[in-house]
Amino acid sequence: MDNIQNNLNIIHQRIKFACKKANRNPKDVRLLLATKTVTPERINFALAQGETLIGENKVQELKQKCDAVKELQPEVHFIGHLQSNKIKEVLKWTSCIESIDRFSIAEKLHQRLTFEEKEIDVYIQVNTSFEESKFGVKPEETIELVKKISEFKNIHIKGLMTIGLLSSESTEIRKCFQLLKQLQEEIKTLQIPNVEMNELSMGMSGDLEIAIEEGATIVRVGTAIFGERVYPDSYYWNESKANA
Ligand SMILES: *Cc1c(COP(=O)(O)O)cnc(C)c1O
Repeated sequence: MDNIQNNLNIIHQRIKFACKKANRNPKDVRLLLATKTVTPERINFALAQGETLIGENKVQELKQKCDAVKELQPEVHFIGHLQSNKIKEVLKWTSCIESIDRFSIAEKLHQRLTFEEKEIDVYIQVNTSFEESKFGVKPEETIELVKKISEFKNIHIKGLMTIGLLSSESTEIRKCFQLLKQLQEEIKTLQIPNVEMNELSMGMSGDLEIAIEEGATIVRVGTAIFGERVYPDSYYWNESKANA
């Protein structure tokens, strides 16, 4: 657990340093712990260090872990690919879904929210890297999707989320984050009712500095805090789109 504490210190230093470089207030950048495959014990340890926000990718893991970490009352976001048959379960455990990327899922979500007389915050996930394998709405279709989803009164769009290009080319990664920022600005100027555009969830272990320089308000960090995962990320990101 020692290394979690140490790793958290390093991450907060990185965030601070990046904010300084970008002339931003570190208070404006939240750290989300990406906790896929991480045990409740380790999550609880991180929460006990003062962390307040976690993100899970799989409903199965939400179910297994959220009960075990609820004492420290983390805010829980869903950051994985959402399937319609899992909506009910996701609503039980999370206050925000960062990965809404298509109208059909928003429609099903709205139906369920109406039935439960509940409301939820969402971000729209955008595929800024133009990789076929990635989830997320195409950049050029984002504004139309935001407009359509804004009609659902129980769904509150709070911002945008993206996974940057997995690359060693920082210019290419930066382009992804700049694109997300640009979309945010464009959507803001439209002043769509029921849409706020204050949040930009972007940046992970390897590229959080670039994301902060380009305007991230949430960085999602897993590996750099909890260590390498057993499963490759493709296990989480490249599920068959057929069962979406
Ligand atoms: C796993 C994951 C992260 C964190 O990635 P790391 O490289 O481990 O920091 C961020 N966002 C999403 C959507 C993830 O699935």
